[in-house]
Order: sequence, then structure tokens, then C-alpha cells
Amino acid sequence: MKIGVLGIQGDIQEHLAVIKKLGHEAVWIRDSDALKAVDALIMPGGESTTMTKLLKRFAIWEPLRKSINSGMPVFATCAGMILLSRGIENYPAQDTLGVLDVTIERNGYGRQVDSFEADLYVNYFGDVPFRAVFIRAPKIATTGKEVEVMASFGGTPVLVRERNIIAASFHPELTDDVRLQRYFLDMVGNSIEDATPRM
Ligand code: GLN
Repeated sequence: MKIGVLGIQGDIQEHLAVIKKLGHEAVWIRDSDALKAVDALIMPGGESTTMTKLLKRFAIWEPLRKSINSGMPVFATCAGMILLSRGIENYPAQDTLGVLDVTIERNGYGRQVDSFEADLYVNYFGDVPFRAVFIRAPKIATTGKEVEVMASFGGTPVLVRERNIIAASFHPELTDDVRLQRYFLDMVGNSIEDATPRM
């Protein structure tokens, strides 16, 4: 399968590397034509205000919203999740794509603990914990009723799914555990199968 990694800013290389390791084609996406040519998209972490500005400047913002709304599978982490959300609760208003029914507190895990790790129990992954790395992570403040919470930390959702979207507060590309990427790739495979007309 052909998996795009939105490559405007943030930890792009790490995501490309995991997709290649799992045997798929990884494509660095920097314009809307490239976006049209992939089966699915990963939206990395980074700095959400910078990303939003650049996505608009490179005219990918609206095509991105359109592709996601028409069912393209997306896996967003950290700042990527901020971009997808319905809105931000704490910082000054900032434009979001509004395709994922969650609201976000930016840097919601506190500035003093800029970064930490935690063991999560993830739906479908059984009782083997998933080590998650949080870096100036966005906190999910509210979730809509169509949103499935796949994992929580301290009672707060940190991994969610809604239709064709998976979003995480943490950075799965920074550890060797690839269960989340595999889960996403399965989801992409199923969406391709569903879209293929049967003879
Ligand atoms: N704190 C960043 C923001 O608000 C997100 C951090 C991250 O992606 N690791 O945009």
C-alpha cells in the first residue's frame, strides 16, 4: 500500500521509516497532488500553529479536509491530532480542520513535565502494555459520542478512533512497538477492500 506522511514540519523521517520497515511504500507528502496519490495518511507531531500556517501557504489545508471527509484513513499523532480536532479549549483561537469530534487542551500535561512515558492498555492489544512517549502532549478535553476511546491515561483518553481517523496524544514512531501502525495498516487494507468493486 502507499502510505503518505504529511511532511511539512515535525518528526517525518521516523514515520516514513516505520512504514518502510512494515513493507509498504512510504511517500513524503508536501503538496495536494501527492496527497491524491496515496491510500492513507500519517500526520506527525510537531508544532500545530506552524503546521497550520504552512499547510495553508502550500494550499494543502482544504484538500486535506476534503480527502479526510471522503474517507481517506488518517493516523494523527500529537500536533497532527490538534489539527484534526473540533477546537482548542485553552490557547488563543486557532484554525482546525474539525474532522475529529474531540476538543483539545494544548500542552495539557503541563509545561514542567514537558515529556514523560507511560504504559497504556490499548483495546485489541490484549494485556501486553504499550509504552507511550508524551512530548508537550495535547490533552483530549472532550470526546463526541461517535468517538471510540482505545486507550486512556489517568482517566483521560489518549488514543481515539472515529470512522477513518485514529489519533494519539503520544508518539508511537519513537518506540519499537509497531502494533499501532499495524492496526492502522489493517484499517487501510480494509478500506481499500471496501472500495474495490466486486465482479
Ligand atoms: N505542543 C505542540 C503543539 O501544541 C504539540 C507537541 C507535539 O506534537 N509533540 O502544537
